[in-house]
Amino acid sequence: MASMHDYDAELADLIFGYMRERLQLNPVPLDHPGRKDKLDSVLAGLIGPEGHDPRRVLSIYDDHLSQAVISCDSPRFLSFIPAAPTKAALLFDMVVSCASLQGISWLEASGAIAAENQVLRLLADMAGMGPQAGGCFVTGGSAGNLSALVVARDVARRRLGLGAYDPVRIAVSDQAHSSIGNTLRIIGVEPLVVRSEDHRLTGSGLRAALAALDAEESRIPVIGVVATAGTTNAGIIDDLAGVAEVARERELWFHVDGAYGGAGLFAPSVRARYDGIEHADSFVVDPHKWLFAPFDCAALVYKNPKLAKAVHTQDASYLDVIHMDTPDEWNPTDYAYHLTRRARGLPLWFSLAVHGTQAYTEAVETALTLARETAALIAKRPELELIREPELSSVLFRRKGWNAEDYQAWSERLLAGQIAFVTPTGWEGETVARFAFLHPHTTTGIVEEILETMV
Ligand SMILES: *Cc1c(COP(=O)(O)O)cnc(C)c1O
Repeated sequence: MASMHDYDAELADLIFGYMRERLQLNPVPLDHPGRKDKLDSVLAGLIGPEGHDPRRVLSIYDDHLSQAVISCDSPRFLSFIPAAPTKAALLFDMVVSCASLQGISWLEASGAIAAENQVLRLLADMAGMGPQAGGCFVTGGSAGNLSALVVARDVARRRLGLGAYDPVRIAVSDQAHSSIGNTLRIIGVEPLVVRSEDHRLTGSGLRAALAALDAEESRIPVIGVVATAGTTNAGIIDDLAGVAEVARERELWFHVDGAYGGAGLFAPSVRARYDGIEHADSFVVDPHKWLFAPFDCAALVYKNPKLAKAVHTQDASYLDVIHMDTPDEWNPTDYAYHLTRRARGLPLWFSLAVHGTQAYTEAVETALTLARETAALIAKRPELELIREPELSSVLFRRKGWNAEDYQAWSERLLAGQIAFVTPTGWEGETVARFAFLHPHTTTGIVEEILETMV
């Protein structure tokens, strides 16, 4: 039996050849959701005691499985948050896989971690978080928010002399991402929900919500606040400067969720909207969204990483050796709830080093421009109505006279015709249409083609 750990030139050629083709698809086909019965019958009996010819297995993937995956890197994928990884980042992702990098500790992976930290340094500097700032890459915004708010909770408990299970609260906007509510449930922190003004969390709204707490309610201290730098649905950036000011007055941990919108820091045309982000105690941005990295990659940055380290460092005798406390040492495992981790910041590092930050600025601005042009196209059509001027790259609009079923049927028609993948969303209780742009190859031509189907 040939060992499965031996290099097999034919297998390597097969896979490299497949990847070459996938990388060259232009355009990437959107494809369709699959049907479980069909997929099950294709997969039936495939995994058993004996293996199969890799060509056969790959062709099952190519002919059946991959076609039942909607390609989020298609320029016609405009739902949720699309993806548009650079070719350099995709290719380097394969290097990360082939090198079996265990990105847990400086002892094991200092070379990889130094490069990841170079990217975190860039992001921290763009936000203006100061020379001490640092953190690690995690799987996504959800993991970043969770890891940051655990630090917020435990730092406050220690500062206030509370016990490890004493209740605390964190202020969140009614517009915060679902992962924030999820996080608070997981970590046993009660939210203080602050009413947004025009879908934006403001300093005055936060101040008023805190002032309105009566003596009874104030017995559980509010120890942090979460602001969003770019809501996922509408791309609205909270009043970061105003919220930061209240956070300073009240000694609240200030967390900024920029999972989607944080990439706007690269764009001079919107940079001023992020003023105040420099005061963040923790900040999350997902490069797998609008910074053109492959899944799964989120950057988590703390203003004072020592606080995070004191909370997240795991104590296990077999790990003692990675905590030597030398000045160089930087263990990504100490800055989030994870232990083993893929060096998932490296594809972004490679692509940034190859293309330079200016290319990123241009690519982010391209999506912002497209959003503004789309708003203008919508305004020109009598049957359509823009819901609000886009702040970032998401555009909300309505087709006059349509109800939820009309939008759903339209969305299904678009996908069936492979014109686009555009799913409806909710806005103030109404079903509306939404475009989320970020792929630099999405054009006004594609947008017009879609709008034409709404006449
Ligand atoms: C996407 C998103 C998240 C969740 O990020 P994942 O990478 O999907 O875990 C959190 N917050 C905001 C604002 C987002 O847009």
